[in-house]
Amino acid sequence: MTFDVEEWFDAQQRRAGSGKFCRESRVRIGVDKILSALHKGGVKATFFVLGSVAEKDPQVIKDISADGHEIATHGYTHRSISEQTPVEFENDLLRSIDALKGVTGKQVSGFRAPGYSITTRTLWALDIIEKAGLKYDSSIYPVSIRLFTKGGASGYQQHPFYIKKNLVEFPLVTLDVFGIKIPAATTAYFRIYPYSISGIAINRLNNIGIPATVNFHSWEFDEFHPRLPLPFPYNIKHYYNLEKIRDRFNRLITEFKFGGCMDQLALAIPWAIK
Ligand SMILES: [Zn+2]
Repeated sequence: MTFDVEEWFDAQQRRAGSGKFCRESRVRIGVDKILSALHKGGVKATFFVLGSVAEKDPQVIKDISADGHEIATHGYTHRSISEQTPVEFENDLLRSIDALKGVTGKQVSGFRAPGYSITTRTLWALDIIEKAGLKYDSSIYPVSIRLFTKGGASGYQQHPFYIKKNLVEFPLVTLDVFGIKIPAATTAYFRIYPYSISGIAINRLNNIGIPATVNFHSWEFDEFHPRLPLPFPYNIKHYYNLEKIRDRFNRLITEFKFGGCMDQLALAIPWAIK
C-alpha cells in the first residue's frame, strides 16, 4: 500500500494554462484522512513524500512516521525524470533524501518517480537510485497502453524483482486482459473503473502469492481542493469520482491485506528473483 504525498497542484500545475492561482497548502487535509482510514483498518503503508513538502510542513511527515508508516521519497520537486539530466536527477534525489531524513531522523529506503517516469528511455535513473543507497524503487508501471500518463514501461513483469544488483523494483499493479496489460487498482484508474476491476487485478496476484503494489495520492482524499482548468483527459484523471475514493478505499483495505514496501522486503521474499 503506497501513497504519493504532494500538493494538489504539484502534478498538474503546468497543464493549468497561464492563469495565476493561489497555491494554498492542503497536504494536511488529505494525509489526516488517509491516516485515520489506515488506523481504523489496522494497515501500515509506505508514503512517498516530496522533499519540498517535507520542508514546508514537517509536522505532517512526522505524524505519518509517528503512526508507524514508512517515509520514502518522491523526489524533491515534482519534475519528470525525462525532463532532467542525470546530474539534475541525482541532485534532486539526494536533496529529497536529506530533507526527509532531517524531518524524521530515519533512513530513507525507497523512491517513486513523479508521474511513474522511469520508462525504457530513463532506465539510467536506476543506477543513480542504487548509488544513493536506496533499497528499492516503485516507479515502473508495466502497462501495455497509456491512457493518462507519459509514464509506464511495458515488458516488465508484475511481481517485485531485483532490477539492479542491490535494488528491488515494486512495479505498480496492472490487469492482464487478453495479453494487454491495463492500469488498474491505482489512483485515477481506481476511481474511474468499477471497483470490481481493481479487486480482480489484486486478486489475480494475491492468489499466486504476489503482493499487488497499489498507489494513491494525498490530494485524492481531499475532494474539495480547488479545481484547476485542466484540459481533457487530465481533468478526468484528476477529478473524476474523487468523492467516491474514501468509501472505495475503506472497502479495499477491508477486503485485502496490505503492508508497506519495507515490510515486504523484510520478509524473505521468494518472489524477488535475483
Ligand atoms: Zn506525484
